[in-house]
Amino acid sequence: MKNILVTGGTGYIGSHTVVELLNLNYNVIIIDNLSNSKIVVLDRIEKITGKRPKFYKGDIRSKDDLRKIFNENKIDCVINFAGLKAVGESVKKPLEYYENNIYGSIVLLEEMKKNNVYNFIFSSSATVYGDPIDVPVDENSKIGGTTNPYGTTKLFIERILNDLVIAEPKFNICILRYFNPIGAHPSGLIGEDPNGIPNNLAPYITQVMVGKREKLNIFGNDYDTKDGTCIRDYIHVCDLAYGHVCAINKLEKSQGIFIYNLGTGKGSSVFDVLHAFEKAYGKPIAYAIAPRRAGDVKANYTDVTKAYNELGFKAKYDILDMARDAWNWQKNNPNGYED
Ligand code: NAD
Ligand code: UDP
Repeated sequence: MKNILVTGGTGYIGSHTVVELLNLNYNVIIIDNLSNSKIVVLDRIEKITGKRPKFYKGDIRSKDDLRKIFNENKIDCVINFAGLKAVGESVKKPLEYYENNIYGSIVLLEEMKKNNVYNFIFSSSATVYGDPIDVPVDENSKIGGTTNPYGTTKLFIERILNDLVIAEPKFNICILRYFNPIGAHPSGLIGEDPNGIPNNLAPYITQVMVGKREKLNIFGNDYDTKDGTCIRDYIHVCDLAYGHVCAINKLEKSQGIFIYNLGTGKGSSVFDVLHAFEKAYGKPIAYAIAPRRAGDVKANYTDVTKAYNELGFKAKYDILDMARDAWNWQKNNPNGYED
């Protein structure tokens, strides 16, 4: 498999994956509607890799946009990053989330089938485990009980993919459940560039570091954890990007539907993350304890055995690396891609 269509390829995880693919000499074709990313990402990707991916400004919900791409390119595998991902926004705009994420994935799969393209990698999320009874979770842990429409789109798409391979055994699918991707490419040229006030922990911290926010609000310090704050499995976005190469290799060798959790296997508290960023910064970062955030789960991290045994995937970076690289990106690009 050499020709990879990357939907959402100018976004945060997509752009890092495109860099990884180009460095390994894959041909990359991107479709992105630029609803949550900037075209300048392509220049940055070219600066890092010396190669410019083929880019189509288009929407995965548009059959015409997809047909054009499948007509003009021989595609071996599709990686579907395109989707809306803001948890809070999904509560306010459920129809937009269901339409964009679920309908978009359905149109994409239909057009793949019409063009005899059957290899598909899907960006799912640890959120499908809801509030896990036991941690670490593994791929056989119970899914469901999602706490917002965003998470439910991931759950439903996974279900659709399972139904699809039963009806259409030519489809060959890898579902990757990401834990918490943070960090940035070590070059500092690409990274996470949220719109407005960041919802997620790492970009909020780096905006405090760069002086755009006054202090970090820690959402609850009264959970039943080692320091009272929630536990997550943070994974460097470059490790995550490499996980997609492992998934391509898997689909080359096997036929069916496969599910993997991608994380480091290590649970870190909000204070652990804050302290890692303080190390990168060389000074304290202002914070205050705030009330718990609705919908937050106490702890979620993964068992990494299956991804290691079946994909050969193992994260290389720890939270100090993640903090260093996230800070390097933010420091060099205080206003993200707007500079
Ligand atoms: P992102 O918003 O940075 O990237 C998504 C990209 O898709 C954006 O460039 C956006 O413009 C594009 N897009 C959205 N809808 C589209 C459509 N209909 N047609 C074409 N392009 C469209 O998000 P990300 O953090 O890179 O996440 C990528 C994928 O991984 C998403 O599906 C997300 O739900 C999933 N995921 C992300 C995380 C995370 O913490 N970042 C965790 C788990 C899963
Ligand atoms: N968090 C926080 N302050 C923030 C953003 C996040 O204390 O401004 C906490 C949040 O409560 C959670 C952890 O950081 O315990 C990770 O949150 P994030 O939104 O990044 O990931 P998710 O909760 O979706 O796993």
